[in-house]
Amino acid sequence: MDLHRDLEDLLAVPSFYKDANCKGTNQDDFFPDRGSSTVIAKQICSECKVRVECLEYAVERKERFGIWGGKSERERRAIRRERRNNEKKSK
Ligand code: SF4
Repeated sequence: MDLHRDLEDLLAVPSFYKDANCKGTNQDDFFPDRGSSTVIAKQICSECKVRVECLEYAVERKERFGIWGGKSERERRAIRRERRNNEKKSK
């Protein structure tokens, strides 16, 4: 384990972010309190040209908080579960 590298990775801004539709928007919309609306964030994501990259980034990193690629944490968990199931079926 390389702690320095892990920390750098954690603090790094993903390359796709330069084209992100959410740049300069209210980040509270993307990290809402439990039970708060995600409609604004999902609307912004739906028009984002790096939506696929963003979602993949969050799914791969098992990102636990926020709206990424237009999906909530629960929706991303479902994606991971579906992928695992598909992987098992293909073996
Ligand atoms: S998909 Fe959404 S969260 Fe991801 S970069 Fe685009 S606007 Fe931001």
